[in-house]
Amino acid sequence: MPCLPDYDSPASLKAFLEENGMAMQKKFGQNFLVNGTCREKLVAACSVDRTNTVWEIGPGLGAMTDLLLKTGAELTVFEIDHGFARALERFFSAHENFTLVEGDVLKTWPSVLKKNGIPDCLFGNLPYNIAATMLADMITANVLFDTCVFTVQKEVALRMAAKPGTKDYSSFSVLCQYGYEVQTVMDIAPGSFWPKPNVTSRAVLLRKKKVPSSASNPALFFSLLRALFSSRRKTVSNNLKSWLALNKVSGYNGAQENLAADIFEQSDIQPSVRAETLRLDEFLKIAEVINRYEHTR
Ligand code: SAM
Repeated sequence: MPCLPDYDSPASLKAFLEENGMAMQKKFGQNFLVNGTCREKLVAACSVDRTNTVWEIGPGLGAMTDLLLKTGAELTVFEIDHGFARALERFFSAHENFTLVEGDVLKTWPSVLKKNGIPDCLFGNLPYNIAATMLADMITANVLFDTCVFTVQKEVALRMAAKPGTKDYSSFSVLCQYGYEVQTVMDIAPGSFWPKPNVTSRAVLLRKKKVPSSASNPALFFSLLRALFSSRRKTVSNNLKSWLALNKVSGYNGAQENLAADIFEQSDIQPSVRAETLRLDEFLKIAEVINRYEHTR
């Protein structure tokens, strides 16, 4: 078995990179978690064993991969950095429960999903834009994991868990809470990473909802959700009117200019409010009313 670098030691990681002619690539948001206690806590939050399947996104040099493999879970890792991918292959390919997918996870995950189905757990320590895009793509495609354990910029974690009427509440909050209960695992200080990032990170645990949110027409719901938040200073009524101008609602018999008002009346929602004050069930109600029109032709 090849000798792994000392994952707690920046000096050891640095030496490994130098010996192998590799360098950290800023564009991929590369910071290694060099705090062993935090790594143990993250793996514990996944609660997986040999009966489970796990995807790890952004394994880097394998600090978490090593621990995840030890749980016995069937592990697939997704890494974009070619040099890291070669190192991971060297370190872990002897493990029967290890599969490596090299490339941009935003492009590679759909084909892996098609081939192997949805794993039980999604694990990752990712740059903020990749984590948010990936999670949003997966939820809108109705790809929901039993649990996800993510380490992200604290600011993103706050958005995931934000409640209506708070400054962090956005369409991304509603989207995350459509699929999951969001819980904080722990905050991770910049000094637990090498190189040290400028921001505090937060690990979050997302658990698939026991009673799933049910939009009859998920595509309509997600499109509407984005639209209602599209201009934060506008009322939901104005944002809905912009959406209605682009999306014809076929079953409405009244005058088109009354449609938005009718939708809010039937949803029992004030048209003058802003999207950041509405709850998930209220967004769902608006989508249901529109969907009903579509089916009353
Ligand atoms: N998990 C390792 C650790 O904690 O030590 C490394 C985490 S580092 C913050 C993020 C990792 O995600 C890097 O290995 C980076 O190359 C990888 N990454 C960044 N963007 C990616 C993408 N689009 N697809 C796959 N991996 C990506």
